[in-house]
Amino acid sequence: MHLIEIYKSVQGESSFAGRPCIFVRLAGCNLRCNWCDSEYTFTGGIPFTEEQIVAEIEKLAPVRLVEFTGGEPLLQARELIPLMQRLLDAGYELMIETSGERLLEDVPAAVHKIVDVKCPASGEGGSFRMENLQALTVRDEVKFVIQSREDYEFARAFIREHRLEEKAGQILLSPAFSKMPSLERSTRNAVLDPRVLVEWMLEDGLAARLSLQIHKYIWEPQKKGV
Ligand code: SF4
Repeated sequence: MHLIEIYKSVQGESSFAGRPCIFVRLAGCNLRCNWCDSEYTFTGGIPFTEEQIVAEIEKLAPVRLVEFTGGEPLLQARELIPLMQRLLDAGYELMIETSGERLLEDVPAAVHKIVDVKCPASGEGGSFRMENLQALTVRDEVKFVIQSREDYEFARAFIREHRLEEKAGQILLSPAFSKMPSLERSTRNAVLDPRVLVEWMLEDGLAARLSLQIHKYIWEPQKKGV
């Protein structure tokens, strides 16, 4: 497998936000979201065997929550899925963060899937694989990154049309962040002010959760490895 980095920090997003977590960041992505904050994963990566990855994870004990992220980790599904099963068997709690464009059916059921549905302003709208709706369970979370009112209305329609709250445990709405370098740990770096998003959610009583990327408030927004 090709990896960018393995490190531990607190989980920045989802209902797991704030929990100590080991991040395994895999190289490569087949999408190009306009607001992507992980472009450094698109190329390169260091080859790791399954044994080496397990050894690196063990060095980061006693943390037992592991997230596979990227890039798009399911581009390396052939090697990743046996690794996830091995870690589950060893008692780890696992998460995977994925774009929604890769099929989820082979991901072990015990893994918490955090699955994007790309909105229009991402430039990758329409990439979500609709078959993936059938693979969701209450362990899973569906995330919309929102940059504009158009994105919000897309997410609202998608949630309602597919009764998403009956398929997944959480629905997350996350304001898009600016890619402009900043040392400020502030909502001023958000492309969409979270207060505006909250107002829209309250108007509609949407069955969703506001999700802020807390690592971008704990550390500087562009800092890597946190
Ligand atoms: S899917 Fe994720 S890693 Fe890939 S371009 Fe979009 S935000 Fe970046």
